[in-house]
Amino acid sequence: MIEVKNVTKKYGSTIAVDNISFKIKEGEIVGLLGPNGAGKSTTMNMLTGYIETTEGQIIIAGNDISKKPKKAKAQIGYMPEGVPLYSDLTVKEFVTYMAELKKVDRKTRKEKVEKIIEQTGLKEVEKKLTRNLSRGYKQRVSMAGALVGEPKILILDEPTVGLDPKQITEIRALIKELGKTHTVILSSHILSEVSQICNKVIIINKGKIIAEDTPENLEKKVSGNNNTYLTVEDPENKMETIKEKITQIKDVKLVKENEDGTKQYILESDKDVDLRKIIFTELAKENITIFEMKNEDITLEDAFMKLIEGGKK
Ligand code: ADP
Ligand code: MG
Repeated sequence: MIEVKNVTKKYGSTIAVDNISFKIKEGEIVGLLGPNGAGKSTTMNMLTGYIETTEGQIIIAGNDISKKPKKAKAQIGYMPEGVPLYSDLTVKEFVTYMAELKKVDRKTRKEKVEKIIEQTGLKEVEKKLTRNLSRGYKQRVSMAGALVGEPKILILDEPTVGLDPKQITEIRALIKELGKTHTVILSSHILSEVSQICNKVIIINKGKIIAEDTPENLEKKVSGNNNTYLTVEDPENKMETIKEKITQIKDVKLVKENEDGTKQYILESDKDVDLRKIIFTELAKENITIFEMKNEDITLEDAFMKLIEGGKK
């Protein structure tokens, strides 16, 4: 459905998107996940044909977006970042106006506008001016705008930013519902959000794709370890070989050497393994004295940040 091949976008000397490639199949709900400035909006703007690529190729439903922009764009409904303000129009006038812009057939226009208003839960506010709506409703109006023209693909840039928790739940439910009949690409900087809505996640950082997987696999990858922080006195340097003695330890990292001669380590184990008990008994046998020991609970968000800081695929 969508094919991005070696796409790069430069703004002067800034490389906003750096040689990315990915494919999206029909019916997938894909999350573009990354911190601010990662290149999410730039990528989406290129997918919609709103800006040109510096290098590379984008194919939408068989149409190269630079060669057949009309055909390619007809497949796409785009909800840009933030909420545009068409303040002097009512909800219904706005959606109708969008339908005119997208050249929806005059004969069916009214009925299609009504269907979209229904679908996006805007019926009760259709006569209100968009500028008087809550942020959550404004987001829905923006979503309605993207749905006009019955595009097969929806591109939603940070659809839940600025919403309160209740509105977030509602918008996510709406996206999931739309996902049944559309191919959806949404961007977010929140891992838990993407894993709730999407069946595929592409993590982007500093313009590069650093991971691409199902949310389940990514969560495993990033939160698959349990870290135990350990400060010890180890005169015989036996920590270096402790991994061979305690098989549950996956990795031993020396964090720092303190002035008093003690050393601080991070021991990694599988997520459901608590090393503390075995460490306590085994280290005593090795003549290693424990000064401090604590387990670190990694949240998904911490793990995501680590993955980003870690950088590479
Ligand atoms: P995200 O949406 O992930 O927050 P963006 O795609 O907006 O990231 O931005 C990626 C990078 O490109 C940032 O470093 C940003 O400053 C830069 N950038 C985005 N748009 C422009 C522009 N029009 N001119 C110059 N630099 C830009
Ligand atoms: Mg953005």
